[in-house]
Amino acid sequence: MPVNLLDFDAERLTGFFAEIGEKPFRARQVMRWIHQFGQSEFEKMSDLSKGLRAKLESGAMVQAPSVMSDSTAADGTRKWLLSVGAANGIETVFIPETSRGTLCVSSQVGCALECAFCSTGRQGFNRNLSVAEIIGQLWWANRALGASPKGERVISNVVMMGMGEPLANFDNVVSAMKIMLDDYGYGLSRRRVTLSTSGLVPAMDRLAEQLPVALEVSLHAPDDKLRDRLVPINRKYPLTELMAACKRYIKVAPRDFVTFEYVMLDGVNDSVGQAKQLVELVGGVSCKFNLIPFNPFPDSGFERSSPERIGAFRDVLMQAGLVTTTRKTRGDDIDGACGQLAGQVQDRTQRKAKRALGAPA
Ligand code: SAH
Ligand code: SF4
Repeated sequence: MPVNLLDFDAERLTGFFAEIGEKPFRARQVMRWIHQFGQSEFEKMSDLSKGLRAKLESGAMVQAPSVMSDSTAADGTRKWLLSVGAANGIETVFIPETSRGTLCVSSQVGCALECAFCSTGRQGFNRNLSVAEIIGQLWWANRALGASPKGERVISNVVMMGMGEPLANFDNVVSAMKIMLDDYGYGLSRRRVTLSTSGLVPAMDRLAEQLPVALEVSLHAPDDKLRDRLVPINRKYPLTELMAACKRYIKVAPRDFVTFEYVMLDGVNDSVGQAKQLVELVGGVSCKFNLIPFNPFPDSGFERSSPERIGAFRDVLMQAGLVTTTRKTRGDDIDGACGQLAGQVQDRTQRKAKRALGAPA
């Protein structure tokens, strides 16, 4: 089986080239061909020697997940369903804005963490994505979108906010993000690559050590009792530990704050009293808030908070000096909004079956 060069960050690619008797600068050349020019055919990498091209042809390949469907929403948001084999599919979403273009990348087939309000969590879990399957989403989207008329990159930002919990697939996600940051890869700065986590505390510390990109933390509740229910990983890493981990992360983060995401669920976590509790909770943490109006999916059991309730909640945070934005809903007519990604997950946790039998999931 030929090795897939999309699986390799710069260090591993250089290692592979050493194994086949090639110099490190050759690895850098190939990395540029693959990621900057989107080339998958070795014979078209014109500045490589014939001998090297032949060697690569026989022992290597560049293979991204293949596209099963491609849809564009009324607001220009575009979503691809990519096949990752064995009837599993993952989703990648491109969100165009006036001053930037953001690609939302998946890290797992499904998610094992079962947050109550998340469609991906509802789908169950199959497996972690490989490095090739993670970076392959950017590789593919970059090719599909091309450059702007001025020759600028259309994708200026990447957010690890698609299907899955990125820190639960730590090594592959870090390798893929290294390629995003590499000058011979996509050359994005650490501020333009954002990872969102539901709060895997030990992995947040590892990320701080290994590759401190911009961090968002899915908070969603001001106290442990409610968060235990909405974000079950809280039972393992409760709020005091999570807040302490955020403070440690900020010391090395590319920005001097973390962003807390807070999904607005009508009558569940959106009262003025809860906003006040939240202000207390994040007291010592340098942070911003991003309120996300809940995006519905069938049988979720939740409703989106009204704009008035969201406004009142935001006012409490703002009056306490916390910069708060409300995330615009994008691409919901193609189920491409936050929390709506479902892909095709061959569930191995039998979550759906248990739910159908009425057992607590
Ligand atoms: N697993 C990671 C990243 C993927 S989810 C995490 O949980 O942070 C990206 C964001 O969308 C998270 O903040 C998540 O809580 C939020 N989200 C999930 N379901 C949602 C829904 N139905 N409506 C709005 N936001 C949702
Ligand atoms: Fe997983 Fe994030 Fe969805 Fe929770 S919100 S189930 S961690 S993808």
